[in-house]
Amino acid sequence: MTINLKHPVVELREKRLGAVSGYAGDADDLCEKAHSGKMKDLDRTFSQCTSCSANQVKNQLVFIQDAAVVEHGPAGCSGDIPGRNMVGRSGRKKRKLPVHNLNYINTNLTEKDMIYGGTEKLRNAIREAKRRFDPKAIFVTTTCASAIIGDDVEGICNSIEKEIGIPVVAVFCEGFRSKIWATGFDAAYHGILRKIVKPAKKKQPDLINIINFQGKDIFTELLGRIGLRVNYIVPYTKISELERVSKAAATLQICATLGTYFAAGLEEHFGVPEVKSPPPYGIAGTDSWLRELGKIVHKEKEVEDLITSEKKRIAPRFEELKRKLEGKTVYIGAGSAHGHSIISIVKEYGMNLLGACTWHHDAKFDCNDDRTDSLKHDVKNYGNFKFSVCNKQSYEIVSKLYKLKPDIYITRHAGTIWATKLGIPSFEMGDEHFGVGYEGLINYGELILDTISNPLFVKNISKHTKLPYTDWWLNQDTFAFLGGQK
Ligand code: SF4
Repeated sequence: MTINLKHPVVELREKRLGAVSGYAGDADDLCEKAHSGKMKDLDRTFSQCTSCSANQVKNQLVFIQDAAVVEHGPAGCSGDIPGRNMVGRSGRKKRKLPVHNLNYINTNLTEKDMIYGGTEKLRNAIREAKRRFDPKAIFVTTTCASAIIGDDVEGICNSIEKEIGIPVVAVFCEGFRSKIWATGFDAAYHGILRKIVKPAKKKQPDLINIINFQGKDIFTELLGRIGLRVNYIVPYTKISELERVSKAAATLQICATLGTYFAAGLEEHFGVPEVKSPPPYGIAGTDSWLRELGKIVHKEKEVEDLITSEKKRIAPRFEELKRKLEGKTVYIGAGSAHGHSIISIVKEYGMNLLGACTWHHDAKFDCNDDRTDSLKHDVKNYGNFKFSVCNKQSYEIVSKLYKLKPDIYITRHAGTIWATKLGIPSFEMGDEHFGVGYEGLINYGELILDTISNPLFVKNISKHTKLPYTDWWLNQDTFAFLGGQK
């Protein structure tokens, strides 16, 4: 797989990774189809709202401490910014950084700009971002509107760099280009790899990049025990730190859906090896993740000692939780690789997984190495299970929950409100580091137990709730609109 940094636009996930957003069947079948090149995307003839890649670009770039983001589009495309500002403020607090608002400007394209062009507005917005925030770099992100009118965003960014004296990076992420919003992560990293990261003069053999979102800092302690230092990327880093990520001894990622492009790009263009493993969730995943890291940094013995002592430490509590959770029914809805990680956790507790749905599926990751295939890891370690792929279509989740009535619904991003209305205990996992490693397994077990032990609240809500869906709707095939003519 080649990451082409000469081109300003990232290659879409659909093309690069064969990503799809529509599938219904089982995990083994999907893995087999993905590996044999037979995986096909199924369209929906009915669709509710979903997310877009312009949104996911901001999910990374607006959290860089000393950068600014100029979004070239209508004000409506900035609808996620109040929420991101809140996440950014609380995330900075969690990481013990000074709390402040995001450095973000939207160019507010109007109907008039759609006719006469928005280049002047963009130039002024870049100058205003420099004046207002004094950033070390500015990322200019595109939207459907700026792409439709064909403003020369790359040309403007390159020409204004000389005037304001800092890197101005065009990031092409207009929502309509890709059905897979995770393409936005790739677009953000493409911009960073293209214009921010510098080749390392000297490597730092104890420094490990961790591609992550905004979770709590748990890696400093975990990896510190084997003499390694942690470099979190991209949220809450500084531009000077991003310039130096090439110095690290290895790149880890908490989720290959998030970090596949950045990790592969750092390996291919800057010689930083990517740790090729399923993510560190569940005992099997964490063992494999740590061992692969140990091989790269030549700390196999330290890693084995850490694995032994951690497993011994959690064993009594793990067994106790397992006794209580074994056989409980569960349904999972989450982002792709993160969903696979939650599956490994519930399977290790012997829970009865009635099914899982992820928001898209990549046939492979950028490193093109089977060891990173987290769904295959689940099937190999825990057996087959019902599986579907939907781009956060609430009606499919509601239909599944209504029919399956699991003891618990675990999600990231979608559906707790519907589970509650159906009287099903649920939680939405906001901190993706909560389930990492051996301690994460215990954290999850305790949260699941706590959630299913107190169902009265949701049962009462359900009793007093009238769903907007009719019986006819709820009783039809969940996938009636997938791949058919209906
Ligand atoms: S899909 Fe297009 S118009 Fe909608 S928010 Fe995303 S970039 Fe803006």
